[in-house]
Amino acid sequence: MPVSHQGNAVTNAVTIVSESVCEQVMGRQDAFTAIENVFAAMAKKDACNFPVVREAIGHADAIYGFKSGFDREGKVLGLKSGGYWPGNTRLNLTNHQSTIVLFDPDTGRLKSLVGGNYLTALRTAASSAVSIAHLARKDSKVLGMVGAGHQSTFQLRAALEQRNFEKVVAWNLHPESLPVLAAVCEALSVPFEAVNRKALCAQSDVIITITSAFEALLDSDWVKPGTHIACMGTDTPGKQEVDPRLFARAKVFTDEVVQSITLGEAQHAMAGGIIKETDIVPIGDVINNARPGRTNDEDITLFDGTGVGLQDLAVASVAAELAVSENLALVLDL
Ligand code: NAD
Repeated sequence: MPVSHQGNAVTNAVTIVSESVCEQVMGRQDAFTAIENVFAAMAKKDACNFPVVREAIGHADAIYGFKSGFDREGKVLGLKSGGYWPGNTRLNLTNHQSTIVLFDPDTGRLKSLVGGNYLTALRTAASSAVSIAHLARKDSKVLGMVGAGHQSTFQLRAALEQRNFEKVVAWNLHPESLPVLAAVCEALSVPFEAVNRKALCAQSDVIITITSAFEALLDSDWVKPGTHIACMGTDTPGKQEVDPRLFARAKVFTDEVVQSITLGEAQHAMAGGIIKETDIVPIGDVINNARPGRTNDEDITLFDGTGVGLQDLAVASVAAELAVSENLALVLDL
């Protein structure tokens, strides 16, 4: 099978972009722009996500699935396939594994295979960052982090770029993990403090929750007026991070309403009759100036970031373009 690097003429070329090349070529700003654009396209119905498949495969305790979609505006078609393999830590591998497959929307031909692990963290952080950029108060000074797992440092770095934060406060169920967040703050010269959950809410202007919790970690009464909260951890039925009563106080935004009410943080407020589907605004409508976001400094804004396949396709497509242009992609003639 002929193998060449970009620059040699190949027919039926498939671009392969490894995890390490993704890390080399794709940064937070590229991800932010890709995610903002795809949320805008989704709200205009120029891009749509197809039904998600997610199954326990009865082997290695793994959950496997795929998320697919088509962005007509960006001409990006494909899927992210992968899932969760809890035994991977023993093998020195991340538990979450994913690969993104892109197709030519004009012909259906396979175009690219792109490593999806780094890009998943990057696009998830870009999602909450987009929500902060569009919904948080401009004068936000304190960022509260709930969670200190794999995603958290990506979230923290992307969030810190959105406002002039003067301090980060953080809580994690396992406090021994908090130094990963403290290290990012130290590197960026932002003061860091480990606090309890009530104190975190009392101090924070912006809160990000990024945990695997199955119960409310933050009480509605603790959250002060004016807060923007990005709930990023709940992406499965049954998971939960905040008190559903917060939805009655907040203006609620999401990446995709269907996911928000079924597997996102809003599932519990919906089940409790606290909100209706029509109360939830796609953030793309705010980006497109079709609907208002925050209207005053007292609003609590809540972004339910559930994670959609189109986000993965958007960042993978940019990563593949950058890898080709920087001569770092492997190109196979299949
Ligand atoms: P991780 O396993 O590395 O970290 C899990 C975090 O959750 C840790 O901070 C841990 O202390 C905390 N935690 C676990 N159980 C808890 C509990 N019962 N109560 C409170 N905290 C608890 O996982 P990660 O890769 O950092 O992902 C975090 C969450 O984000 C997961 O639920 C994952 O499914 C979700 N996620 C969402 C998106 C999205 O697009 N919204 C994308 C990727 C991951």
